[in-house]
Amino acid sequence: MLEAMDIWEQSNELLGADAGFQRNGVVYLCDNEQEFTKHSEWLESAEPLGAKARVLNSAQLADLLPMAVRSWHGAVYAETDGCAEPQLAAPAFAKAAQRAGAIISIGDAVRGIETAGGRVSAVVTEKGAVKCSAVVVAGGAWSSQFLGNLRVRFPQLSVVTSAQCTAPGEQPLIPSLTGSGFITRKRVDGGYNVLCHGGEIHDITPASFRFLWDFRHLATSDNGVKLRVSREFFRDIHWKRSWKNNESSPFEEVRTWDPPIDEKNLDAGVLVAAAALPMFKEAKIAHRWGGVIDVTPDALPVISPIAAIPGLFLSSGYSGHGFGLGPAAGRLTADMVLGNAKAEELKPYRFERFADGSIRPGPALR
Ligand SMILES: Cc1cc2nc3c(=O)[nH]c(=O)nc-3n(C[C@H](O)[C@H](O)[C@H](O)COP(=O)(O)OP(=O)(O)OC[C@H]3O[C@@H](n4cnc5c(N)ncnc54)[C@H](O)[C@@H]3O)c2cc1C
Repeated sequence: MLEAMDIWEQSNELLGADAGFQRNGVVYLCDNEQEFTKHSEWLESAEPLGAKARVLNSAQLADLLPMAVRSWHGAVYAETDGCAEPQLAAPAFAKAAQRAGAIISIGDAVRGIETAGGRVSAVVTEKGAVKCSAVVVAGGAWSSQFLGNLRVRFPQLSVVTSAQCTAPGEQPLIPSLTGSGFITRKRVDGGYNVLCHGGEIHDITPASFRFLWDFRHLATSDNGVKLRVSREFFRDIHWKRSWKNNESSPFEEVRTWDPPIDEKNLDAGVLVAAAALPMFKEAKIAHRWGGVIDVTPDALPVISPIAAIPGLFLSSGYSGHGFGLGPAAGRLTADMVLGNAKAEELKPYRFERFADGSIRPGPALR
């Protein structure tokens, strides 16, 4: 994340376009001593790695947020943290990649790969095969299913969440806030993203049972994800687990995985935010959307070769942090494929960690 922040900092020059990056700071609000201790412990563990943040007591937090009409126990404030705008950044990165020679093919589902002499020799799309010596699986929430068809087991589950933004307006709240039931982030257009904290839902599907053992430690962690039995179970059960390269794949059936919006949850997010910050009482909601977040058992991505199939690589499982991490994760993925990444650098993201039992869930998952 620290490397990603350095790249974000230079993103406008590197991309030749505005990615909307701003260092506006993030405040982790704590309602009680228990939350305060948890965040402070995180800070103690992250500081030696180079993370910069400080603990604020209730009075210091009140000074930072003069528009708030309630008090908190305290907070952890990462003043130099920042955010960028996905709608600006994603096309800016894509266009920069094209200028550097990348060919981007939007809307072509990849069905599988071909091998020759045991090594990757082509990637096969619904429109035909493209010869290559390396394939990176970076399919987000679809990666596990794609690899399953290649007999590679990747423990990955999905949570759905909803988000909303308010209409642009001149409002004084600058740092992003998270905790205490809500999340807010100021956008470059002057509006805010306002979410309900803890609005993530895992729809129970056959994959929940397939990967139950891998995710067992989450049963006792306070990660806030709610479990739900829904029609997703039947949709998932009906999907093919294996297919040939000349057959239609599940990706072609769905194309864009657009989960329903949880309106109630979003209404609650605005109410909770408005109870603390009256500026949200009058806020007009401009847009709402739903999304899928893919998670691994330790909430860390996999950036790794797949040893069973030389030439096949995985860069996935970003566990809700893939946008922020993206620039550094992309750099590491590229170096890995070119054989330039240091083994030490890749070690935490090894694919084998799920099979050899070496995963160490970090403080956020305890
Ligand atoms: C509401 C919401 C809020 C979030 N907030 C944050 C945040 O504040 N900070 C942060 O860092 N992250 C955040 N995230 C998470 C972030 O968006 C993801 O971690 C990130 O997008 C993952 O990137 P990815 O490239 O691994 O996967 P994706 O972005 O999902 O990209 C994978 C792409 O592969 C395509 N694909 C899959 N299978 C195939 C196939 N067979 N053929 C062709 N194409 C295929 C998919 O259609 C998709 O376009 C949020 C996510 C959501 C939903």
